This record gives sequence, structure tokens and C-alpha cells, in this order.
Amino acid sequence: MGFENNKGIFIFIQQVDNKITNVSFELIGKGKELAADLGAEVTAVLLGYKVKSLADELAAYGADKVILVDDPALEIYTTEAYTHGMYSVIERYNPEIVLYGATAIGRDLAPRVSARVHTGLTADCTKLEVDPETKYLRMTRPAFGGNIMATILCPNFRPQMATVRPGVMQKLKKIEGAKANIKEFNPGFEKNHKYVEVLDVIKKPSSKIDIQEANILVSGGRGVGSKENFKLLEELADTIGGTISSSRASVDAGWQDKEVQVGQTGKTVRPHVYFAIGISGAIQHLAGMEESDVIIAINKDPYAPIFDVADYGVVGDLNQIVPILTEKIKAEMI
Ligand code: FAD
Repeated sequence: MGFENNKGIFIFIQQVDNKITNVSFELIGKGKELAADLGAEVTAVLLGYKVKSLADELAAYGADKVILVDDPALEIYTTEAYTHGMYSVIERYNPEIVLYGATAIGRDLAPRVSARVHTGLTADCTKLEVDPETKYLRMTRPAFGGNIMATILCPNFRPQMATVRPGVMQKLKKIEGAKANIKEFNPGFEKNHKYVEVLDVIKKPSSKIDIQEANILVSGGRGVGSKENFKLLEELADTIGGTISSSRASVDAGWQDKEVQVGQTGKTVRPHVYFAIGISGAIQHLAGMEESDVIIAINKDPYAPIFDVADYGVVGDLNQIVPILTEKIKAEMI
């Protein structure tokens, strides 16, 4: 369709305070897989101010090239400046595919860029693959409340663009000592590109570990019964070095913070061990945890769907089982 000039897979690299967000590495990993099917290269697009030193890390995780847009206007994320930066990179280099993390920044930036470039955008994808015949990017995401998975194509415009949920794709093993092949590009940032002035940045205090980084998650659902009763799960988590997470029902009930919600409208996690305690296993919950290495479910209903994905299942009352489990593990550790 006359898209011969559109080449390569570009990844928008999100950095905040000169620290690259994990999803950017995950997207480079996925990009390499797609690139192998297309015979293309993966280019990391790094926007920011005084961020050149981050480029080697991108090469270490697999980026073939890094396009660096370094300008004082990009020190703190603003929609207008970053849209201008990404738009200019796309206009100049004509990529075939551009991927963004479905983070707060990615969800803000990608639609603006897609409107300016005049192409489509599939938001919140959980799967990406190259169609073996047409070579189109097949972008898959949950639709209709997670009841179906929709696969979306963008045949008539380029680049094909998608935001991808953090935690779904896997980053490659880091190659220590890799050196980036950097191309510097600055489209110029005029005052017009700064409609918003950031006066102050106030960070939300967060004492909890990010559940997406945890190796062991102890997740509780409506069956836990109350905020107080989460103590049982906390004791188990403390004993095994785990972190508390939850279903949406526990968040809606006010027992847990939204930031520890697992699932379609929460976070996607992939820990070594996932305990699902008093969680039924609704499709929207499974979407966020079914890739965990080992799933252990405790539920009093033997027909709860969580048992369909569990590696180990205990049927019974969590109020009896969880304290026994904690005690047994403690005894083993002595
Ligand atoms: P329930 O479904 O009520 O299950 C409670 C379970 O606890 C039951 O299986 C019961 O047998 C068991 N139980 C009760 N008492 C005990 C006991 N004493 N001992 C042992 N077991 C016991 N949900 C999410 O989790 N994450 C999401 O991101 C998410 N996004 C959604 C997005 C949309 C658009 C929609 C429509 C829904 C979404 N949901 C999400 C909600 C989801 O559909 C379910 O309602 C929710 O996951 C149910 O949470 P639960 O398993 O904790 O509660």
C-alpha cells in the first residue's frame, strides 16, 4: 500500500527523574521479537534533558539504535513538548511501528501523537504479533469488560501504534557493557510548545513495594471479609517475604489501596508465587495474574474458577487454613 519508506520499530522510552521506567525495557524485548519477523531494527526514542547517559542501558536491553532528543523543554513531562518531540521523530524517520507503555504518561502522550501524525492507536494491548501473511501488526486487547479479546489492525496508515500494559511483555537479559549507537536529533522547541508551565512537582509518598516488582504476592479477595482480617495474610506475607496485593472487590470495599489491585483495571503481575486467597478468579482478575510461575489458591468453593488456573489448590475456610499455613512455614524455618 505504498508504505515501503516506513521502516523499523520505535519504542518511546519513558524516563522520570532520569530513571527509565521498566515497561520501556519490556517493550524493547517485545520489539526485538517483532523485528525478527519483519527483518527490522529496534530503535529506542529517548526524550528528556541531560539523559544521554541512559542510552547505554537501552542498548544493554537490546535496542539496536537510540534516537536522543535532549532539550531543557523536556526536563519534566508535559504533553505539548513531548508530543512535539515524538511527532518530529516520526516525521523525520518514518517508523513502521511505534510502541508506548500504557502508563499515565504513555496514555496521555500516545493519543496526542496519533492525532498529530494522523494514524491509529490501539490502547492497552496485552499481545502483539506480526501477521505472517500481510506483515501487519496484530494488536490484541481486552474488550467489552474483558469478556472478549479484540485483535485490531491498522492497514491504511503508518506508523502502526499501540500502548502496552506494563508487566505483560518480558525484558531481555541485560548485556553488561553494551554501548549504544546514538543519533542525536533536536527539532527545536519554541515557546509555543510550552502552553503549560510546571510550577512544582509534589511526589506521592509511597512506602509500599511495587507489586509488579515482587517475587511473592499474597493476594486477598472479598472472601477475606474485612480490612482487619487482612492481618492473617500480612502474617503469611511477612513469614515468606511476600507482598500484599488484592482483587478489585477488596479495593472497592476500602480494605486495600488501588495501587495493589491486580487485574484488568489494576496491575499485571508475574511473580514466582501468587497466593489467591478468598478470590473467585473472575476473568478480569485472571487477566492480571495468570502468567505467574506458581499459583496457590485457597477458597471454600471447590468450583471457584481460580482453581482452573491454580497449580496448587486448598478447598476450605481461609480463616483456618492461612494461620495453619503460616505456623507450618515458621516451624519449617526454625
Ligand atoms: P468474589 O468474586 O466475591 O469472590 C470471593 C471468593 O471468596 C469466592 O470464590 C468465595 O468462595 C471465597 N470465599 C468467601 N469466604 C471465604 C472463606 N472464609 N474462605 C475461603 N474462601 C472464601 N477484578 C479484579 O480483581 N481486578 C480487576 O482489575 C478488575 N477489573 C474489572 C474491570 C471490569 C470492566 C469489570 C466489569 C470488572 C472488573 N473486576 C476486576 C471485577 C471482577 O469481575 C470481580 O468482580 C472481582 O474480581 C471479584 O473479586 P473477588 O474474587 O475478591 O470477589
